[in-house]
Amino acid sequence: MYKVDNRGYYGKFGGAYIPELLHPCVEELKQNYEKIISESDFKKEFDQLLSDYVGRPTPLYFAKRFSEHYQANIYLKREDLCHTGAHKVNNTIGQILLAKRLNKKRIIAETGAGQHGVATATVCALMGIECIVYMGEKDIERQAPNVKRMKMLGAEVRPALSGSKTLKDATNEAIRDWINHPNDTHYIIGSVVGPHPYPEMVAKFQSVISAEMKKQLMEKTGNENPDIIVACVGGGSNAAGAFYHYLNNKNTRLIAVEAAGLGIHSGETAATSVIGSEGIIHGSRTLLMQTSDGQIVEPYSISAGLDYPGIGPLHAHLISSGRAEATSITDDEALKSAFFLSRKEGIIPALESAHAFAAMEKLEYKKNDTIVINLSGRGDKDLETYTKHFDRFA
Ligand SMILES: *Cc1c(COP(=O)(O)O)cnc(C)c1O
Repeated sequence: MYKVDNRGYYGKFGGAYIPELLHPCVEELKQNYEKIISESDFKKEFDQLLSDYVGRPTPLYFAKRFSEHYQANIYLKREDLCHTGAHKVNNTIGQILLAKRLNKKRIIAETGAGQHGVATATVCALMGIECIVYMGEKDIERQAPNVKRMKMLGAEVRPALSGSKTLKDATNEAIRDWINHPNDTHYIIGSVVGPHPYPEMVAKFQSVISAEMKKQLMEKTGNENPDIIVACVGGGSNAAGAFYHYLNNKNTRLIAVEAAGLGIHSGETAATSVIGSEGIIHGSRTLLMQTSDGQIVEPYSISAGLDYPGIGPLHAHLISSGRAEATSITDDEALKSAFFLSRKEGIIPALESAHAFAAMEKLEYKKNDTIVINLSGRGDKDLETYTKHFDRFA
């Protein structure tokens, strides 16, 4: 069983470890979300926006030259073609529609790299709802283009000034805000992390990825089941979406690709499933990188979206139960792969997605296997990084 149980657990991972004061907010969501998202008018509005606003279904593209190189049949699920350039908007559309039906007047979010902040600011503009995005002061400096996008979209970006002035501090500020505004505010979490019901709710909104994949593979190959699905994992939302409708199909291997940063044992990494251990982060019991006395270790990856010290509880369960295989890719391997895909297929991937492509170098597979790689986002945002490394990889 890979679906969440009614207490919010995937195996021994998940749950809702929250301050007492947040209990009413999380409970309201838990009591209402399943009913609301299964209502026909919700589904209709969600599907309509996914098609007309986001541009779904995203193509499933047979990558011919890439396939020839690896001697496999490789398809790319083109989440990079979503409005705003990545899969994150699938989830923010779902949550904003939910927030409206819960009569919320105010949206808060936290963001590290700014991608989730942009996806949230986008749907708040779409719905005319106030949007406040908490962001570590250090991240505001590092991710200036996304801060400008959020402001352009009408969001207020509030700096988190405490601690390391990064994502976890922004999360603390967002939680504080929610505690102070329990009635009129919805907190949009951007990945399959956080207290129950967030991980399952976000996975459901993203599951449109594998629902489309099944249909498209059937049309293209006569078989809806690929041999292998590969996706990168930060918190794990694009991977959860790409795996979701295949979880109970044991003939499809699921490959979760984490960021090794400068190397798994370098001290500069985000390979949570390898060096992490059980603990509580962001409201759920899962695997996370921590010191022996339980302090969260600052993660590192060249890719901002994978630079997270935990992993969603669904993935902790999939990996520890053997249903999914985890692998990790260093900065240099991801960069090399981004240049390779750009030259082979004319597609510049996001740095996060480049980790998934690089996994082809390590993966064991049979000749002519059908492999789907989830291309979670486009690389425009990473051009400056790519340019910095041009001489080494071009
Ligand atoms: C944010 C992001 C990710 C990582 O988040 P997940 O929740 O693990 O999917 C991956 N790819 C892109 C393009 C992103 O923006």
